[in-house]
Amino acid sequence: MTLDERAGRFPADLDENTNDMIALNPVFTRPGEASLLPKFRMPKGESLPETAYQIIHDEAMLDGNARLNLATFVGTWMDDHAARLFAESADKNMIDKDEYPATAAIEARCWQMLADLWHADDPENTIGTSTIGSSEACMLGGLALKRRWEARRRAEGKPTDRPNLILSSAVQVCWEKFCNYWDVEARYVPISEEHRVLDGHDLDKYVDENTIGVVAIMGVTYTGMYEPVAQIAAALDKIQADTGLDVKIHVDGASGAMIAPFCQPDLEWDFRVDRVASINTSGHKYGLVYPGIGWIVWRDREALPEQMIFYVSYLGGNMPTLALNFSRPGSQVLLQYYMFLRLGWEGYRRVQQNSLDIAQYLAGKIAEFDAFELWNDGADIPVFAWRMRPGHTDNWNLYHLSDRLRQKGWLVPAYPMPDNLPDVTVQRIVVRNGLSFDLANSLVEDIRTEVEFLDGLTSPMPGAGQGPHFHH
Ligand SMILES: *Cc1c(COP(=O)(O)O)cnc(C)c1O
Repeated sequence: MTLDERAGRFPADLDENTNDMIALNPVFTRPGEASLLPKFRMPKGESLPETAYQIIHDEAMLDGNARLNLATFVGTWMDDHAARLFAESADKNMIDKDEYPATAAIEARCWQMLADLWHADDPENTIGTSTIGSSEACMLGGLALKRRWEARRRAEGKPTDRPNLILSSAVQVCWEKFCNYWDVEARYVPISEEHRVLDGHDLDKYVDENTIGVVAIMGVTYTGMYEPVAQIAAALDKIQADTGLDVKIHVDGASGAMIAPFCQPDLEWDFRVDRVASINTSGHKYGLVYPGIGWIVWRDREALPEQMIFYVSYLGGNMPTLALNFSRPGSQVLLQYYMFLRLGWEGYRRVQQNSLDIAQYLAGKIAEFDAFELWNDGADIPVFAWRMRPGHTDNWNLYHLSDRLRQKGWLVPAYPMPDNLPDVTVQRIVVRNGLSFDLANSLVEDIRTEVEFLDGLTSPMPGAGQGPHFHH
């Protein structure tokens, strides 16, 4: 078919030989049908569903292989029953509590299970919600802290124009967004060689009457380390005794809040610590669900200002909702419930412990390399980071190694630590369910081959190999 014959299907100014066009593989071309479609404009006419499907299917194949992605925390595998549930419920809108009361009830059961898992005194009197991920959950947690602080300040007749939030310099980017979007000053406590996480030291230098709260991270994104919540709370107790300021903690448990309850049950980081007002987690990280689900739970109704709650009609009555988004998929909530029922506490423990075992095994193997020095060893969440051993070589760095592993399909990012440790470059592995011992051994072998190659260089690699800032 000539371009003339196809004329009329395309905006006239597009050239079929340029990047403006997307071409269908000839194997799938059907008689009389366009095999070229404009890429950046809506096509003029229709396509057969098979054709549209094939084009997108082929293009999406260019995405990486999620199994070899050791950079992300997000779940990339669920079983066939989950796939069925997903297909059956992809049309459910979470906000439509009246139309989908069963999904709404399941959502409430899920966060009550989390409240119980996180040792709320009275799970019945907690309040929580599903969100699209931890980022939205953190926005809500931060906002609740801010509103409570404002209410207290107003009651005292004091100004509310200069709120601040205290966080580690290694917080996830969603907290920078929170502070930016809601006009809160971010007070970063720098991490350092001696204080690798926010641990409560010198907290009195940061806290003042305008402090809305402190964020404690269970599973720092850069390294996977836990921040000692109870120790941070003790530092705040002392500050309260000295100054009267009562500062609450929000725990960002994006990954750790689904690891610690199962694998470190004696560690007190959750509602057992009185100062903890709220906790979030990502259902799509170690909650083992596909992307698009997070959770937040407040200790009790008092911890969440009533003004943040909206009421929607539900079975002829009213149901509280709180979330930044309105419409969003209900299917992920059902998948979370599926995982809770399917695995139960013991199943989650087994899956998470397996990931921890593999992370610690891999960390042990990395530690054996003369080139490397572990930053941490995967004892907290199944994540660890390492750096070059000082003095090992000037010929290559971790960015070069990351590039070479990428050629074999592995995504093992290298990145600089936060601003105050700019000279420290680390490389990190996130172990998720699905990274088997077998796969871990292949990875170690590939690292060994590449390190031997790099160590064999007789002069430096060109360029610094500096990578981008890394945020997830
Ligand atoms: C991943 C992560 C987030 C953001 O979570 P999303 O679910 O991706 O929105 C926030 N905080 C920490 C510590 C994280 O690891």
